[in-house]
Amino acid sequence: MKKRKLSLIGYWLLFALAILIVVIVVFVQYFFYLHVEEVHEIKETPNYVLKVAYPVVKNKTISKKIEKYVEDAKKDFILSIEDNVDPNYQYDFTVNYDISVLGTVKMIHLVIYSFTGGAHYIRNDQVFMYDEDTGKEVDITYFLENDTFSKLQELARAKIYAYYEEKDESIDKTWIDDGTSKPSDFSLFKVSDNEVIFTFPPYQVGPWSDGEIVISIPKASLNGVFKNEYLNYEEEKPVISTIQNKRDLSEFKDKKLIAFTFDDGPGGKSTSKLLDNLDKYNARVTFFVLGSRVNTFSENLRRAYLMGNTIGSHTFNHFNLYKLSEEAQMEEIVSTNKAIESVIGQKTIYLRPPYGNIKNEIKEQSGMYTILWNIDTEDWKKKNADKIADHIIEHAHDGAIVLLHDIYMFSVDGALKAMEVLQKEGYAFVTIEEMLELKGKTLEPLKSYYGF
Ligand code: ZN
Repeated sequence: MKKRKLSLIGYWLLFALAILIVVIVVFVQYFFYLHVEEVHEIKETPNYVLKVAYPVVKNKTISKKIEKYVEDAKKDFILSIEDNVDPNYQYDFTVNYDISVLGTVKMIHLVIYSFTGGAHYIRNDQVFMYDEDTGKEVDITYFLENDTFSKLQELARAKIYAYYEEKDESIDKTWIDDGTSKPSDFSLFKVSDNEVIFTFPPYQVGPWSDGEIVISIPKASLNGVFKNEYLNYEEEKPVISTIQNKRDLSEFKDKKLIAFTFDDGPGGKSTSKLLDNLDKYNARVTFFVLGSRVNTFSENLRRAYLMGNTIGSHTFNHFNLYKLSEEAQMEEIVSTNKAIESVIGQKTIYLRPPYGNIKNEIKEQSGMYTILWNIDTEDWKKKNADKIADHIIEHAHDGAIVLLHDIYMFSVDGALKAMEVLQKEGYAFVTIEEMLELKGKTLEPLKSYYGF
């Protein structure tokens, strides 16, 4: 057989094809990094629950590091329970994160919790800190004057010793000194009006049972240690709680009412899209937010509240409350309430416990009202806006509470599609608070509400 040679045109075509492939690859990557702001994974098997959320940032090196850190931890978790499975126990693995910014530095704090059957959950903290201008990773020394790290160490250690002295507990100085020996030990901090606040995760400077140790160092004693530009940084103030965000409800009196509720947020672009479109349907909704996400997405939360949407709590970390001590359960609730109040300047009394799991003692102790749902869209499984919309439309009824998640674009699109149809069927879309008022209901602390 005669060997065929590529003609010149053939070579050119091949070359053009190669260029095209490169362009597509670059475009896809660019598109991915630009449009995906976080990775979500939910997986439920008979043996374990995975609930993972981590950010995708424009800095690809950092993004890859974050991804690797989470994926490695996930593999370890799955391996450890494969070796050692108790069929009567459901293990779980949760990844939450928080993003804060100081000057040009972005600080991404990942917290991984795994329950693998021991006495308590295991918590791993990891902070990725980088300068957005240079793309370089930095640590606490970036914010300090030259050669002042040891001064910071000294100040912090004195505060931790004092913390234990005040609690009248014995001090393990070796533990404290080890846990504050290097710059990365000081990765969790924020600058407030008068102080710099450092958080040391459980087990870093003391036993697990002591939990997080938080110390505040007055700015005055950090003069010459912290760079001035960071000491002069001022904290953002929450909105004033007297803002009038209530709607006139008289136009809804004769309508069928539906409360759309969104859990697991606040989210970024998906939540923004929902808020952008509510006016089209004269709708207000309810958000049950996770305390762990409130800081990262505080702008959307504030905007949602100011528009007149109801803000409720979905606890801090999305743990199954049944697996926690009473103290830890209250901590999940109280810390979320504090986080919400710091952003909207207003307390919330509405609680949606993850998986609907809550005991009467906690309902009583927390003083909050438990709001569940009677239309479960299973949006996170369906991953399809049309299917989600169809489910809502099919099950819609007066007084219904619909469960959705505003961290997914397909859920937001599904909710908006359903509103489009249901509006024509005479439905009005109200918040939990508005529903209560329109139906003339008063909540009782020990009840769980599925609908009205
Ligand atoms: Zn949830």
